Amino acid sequence: MPRRVARRKEVSMIDDVRKDVLTVYAAADAAVGAAGPRCDASGRCCRFTEYGHTLFISAFEAEILLENAPFYEQPVSRDGCPFQIEGLCTARDARPLGCRIYFCDESYETRMAEITEEALAKLKHIADTHGTGWHYAPLHHFLNAPLPARPNNQGSDSMTPPVTRVSLPVVNHSGG
Ligand code: SF4
Repeated sequence: MPRRVARRKEVSMIDDVRKDVLTVYAAADAAVGAAGPRCDASGRCCRFTEYGHTLFISAFEAEILLENAPFYEQPVSRDGCPFQIEGLCTARDARPLGCRIYFCDESYETRMAEITEEALAKLKHIADTHGTGWHYAPLHHFLNAPLPARPNNQGSDSMTPPVTRVSLPVVNHSGG
């Protein structure tokens, strides 16, 4: 297949994947809205180590987040998210599923697990449908990946090895 045609197909597939992932976000937002969990606006959901949790995201979510997020300094530690500034998310529209679904409200825990499971199953289905790989890791793994477009990149923190960021989606090229 000529290179130009192959590239066009790849771009079209990337657009399809992006659209599908955004549809998953919209469904998750609607499910969370219907559940109506309480938010104390404490900002603790973005301070991972302090509150004893880890934000895992997929490569799909990382790409959408990093396409739209403001500049940040590397390395990023596992402790918190660099996009939380003065208690607010500065990447709100592009935030990953965990940020959309996670709330501290204890009465929402069961529903939160269900919404998470459902959304992740849909993301995995997108990966299967488009023949991409499935890569799922803590947020800072993706934020510390080498980024040629980001001049301050200095590699990962000392706790975790860097991962290589790839364009959305993680395509297993078989030639062309
Ligand atoms: S992307 Fe936004 S909501 Fe998610 S952890 Fe970072 S600051 Fe918090």
